[in-house]
Amino acid sequence: MNSKNRCANHDNIVHLEDSGGGADITTIQIYDAKQDKVVAVEKIEKSDEEWKKLLTEKQYEITTRQGTESPGTCTFEEVHEPGIFQCVRCGTDLFRSSTKFESGTGWPSYYEPISRLNVMEQPDRSQGMVRTEVLCARCGSHLGHVFDDGPLPTGKRYCMNGLALKFVPEGQL
Ligand SMILES: [Zn+2]
Repeated sequence: MNSKNRCANHDNIVHLEDSGGGADITTIQIYDAKQDKVVAVEKIEKSDEEWKKLLTEKQYEITTRQGTESPGTCTFEEVHEPGIFQCVRCGTDLFRSSTKFESGTGWPSYYEPISRLNVMEQPDRSQGMVRTEVLCARCGSHLGHVFDDGPLPTGKRYCMNGLALKFVPEGQL
């Protein structure tokens, strides 16, 4: 941080692009790992077309069109340092590396989100199954599903798409 932050200007506040569709700004509370506290942020709402421009084809397919990556393609197994897995679309903190476990499914799996505030869960009856979909609370990105066959202490298995996440080492938050 430099001394310019003392000035009463707001140049360092990120203004989300106005999509022209009215000024409906919804503020939500999420947990911020770097500050270690709950903060108020604006919800990010973009059209599919807007996301398409910002993401790779695979990221778009998974996060916006509820796709699923091929099992075994995620490279998070190579991550061995402490850190946070964030939403690839909006940077919201989602999972701590300490809650990641080897599920044998080929998808990165965690036994709990970093905070209940940061994810949304909703019923998903697609593909002839009843599952619980997990989404980013801030931008609505499809992350994966949660199942009840995980390890202690929660018994939950958050089965995620690696392409919906990005890893940030603890020191670089
Ligand atoms: Zn997000």
